[in-house]
Amino acid sequence: MSNLAINPERLWGELMETAVIGGTAKGGICRLTLTDLDREVRDWFKARTETLGCRVTVDDMGGMFARRAGTADVPPIAIGSHLDTQPTGGKFDGALGVLAALEALRTLVEAGYETFAPIEVVNWTNEEGSRFQPAMVGSGVFAGVFERDWAAARTDRTGVTFGAALEAIGYRGPERCGVHPLSAFFELHIEQGPLLEAEGRDIGVVTGVQAMRWYDVTVTGQDAHTGATPMHLRKNALLGVARLIERVHGIALANAPAAVGTVGMIDNRPNSRNVVPGEVLFCADLRHPEARVLDAMEAIFMESLSEICEPLGLTTQAEKIWDQPPVRFDPDCVAAVRRAAELSGLSTRDIVSGAGHDAAYVSRVAPSAMIFVPCRGGVSHNEAEFTSKEQCAAGAQVLLQAVLDFDRQLAERHRAAGEPRAAD
Ligand SMILES: [Zn+2]
Repeated sequence: MSNLAINPERLWGELMETAVIGGTAKGGICRLTLTDLDREVRDWFKARTETLGCRVTVDDMGGMFARRAGTADVPPIAIGSHLDTQPTGGKFDGALGVLAALEALRTLVEAGYETFAPIEVVNWTNEEGSRFQPAMVGSGVFAGVFERDWAAARTDRTGVTFGAALEAIGYRGPERCGVHPLSAFFELHIEQGPLLEAEGRDIGVVTGVQAMRWYDVTVTGQDAHTGATPMHLRKNALLGVARLIERVHGIALANAPAAVGTVGMIDNRPNSRNVVPGEVLFCADLRHPEARVLDAMEAIFMESLSEICEPLGLTTQAEKIWDQPPVRFDPDCVAAVRRAAELSGLSTRDIVSGAGHDAAYVSRVAPSAMIFVPCRGGVSHNEAEFTSKEQCAAGAQVLLQAVLDFDRQLAERHRAAGEPRAAD
């Protein structure tokens, strides 16, 4: 069973074939969720999996599940990712996870290999969160993180709701999202960071996803004439924010190497050449794999607000607007990924994901794990995103072997429990 091998050429061919759907001049993909292009790639996915004998079900958030039966009547082992992209997305973010899953399934079909559990290839809706916020909404509703009706009422920039867009492309399925038990979920994804490439490793064994928090802060001073106001009489809100940006950077460095801290958005008011800024709004983004460390980082950040701003005559108001706890993937699933990489003769490194993924939400309702492959320069959410044919193939091979490994564990557990059941 360990000699089953995915076909690298075929996987690469399908990555390039589907990249044309929404393909951009610079070699990327613009395939926003629930657009006509999304429908096109969904139709392609449905046709391709049905050709392999799969039964495709669609839930009422547009989640697609292409199922190949197993020998037992147990919940499926799901594999997949997402087919939507950013407006200037690359060819691999999401697509690799779905198409590698398809290739793994096809390898099983062609070998006539029967798994114990059914295998399902999944395409989650709106992972990117570009057209509709928040991100990972399909898997989020699936896992009970978001209310289905709330998600369906999200609007894009032109006022179209998620629900209406889903209806318009014909992918509001009959199954209620979330009423779909899984034995496990494995997601292959490009790393979207530089570690694997820098260390020359083939495979990232993803052990979890770091905790993330966002803080909206308003710093208030006083608008004043830049020429007529002496320095000692100013209440320059932007000066306070400049020092806070430096502090956020420092807080992350003080908790190296796992911590990151960023101020990526500021709104400087009135943003005029000859006015001392009287009010600035900014958002701080703090992340760390451990909630305990993040708590400490948060405490220092909060103290810094008054410590830095009071001497400048400024007041501050802060609100935590997002608090994502850390995710620890299932030890059995992670072990299956690790063994799969070893079996395939590939070098590995444990990684805690810096970005959110569908698997992070799915892990709340099913044992889950992720596999990372390198991407050139760590560049992602960019048309230049690149992972080689060999790297894609290595990821797909590990995905296949991890599924087979987990499937054997599952079969053994059921045998031990004395409940062999026939498939329906
Ligand atoms: Zn992605």
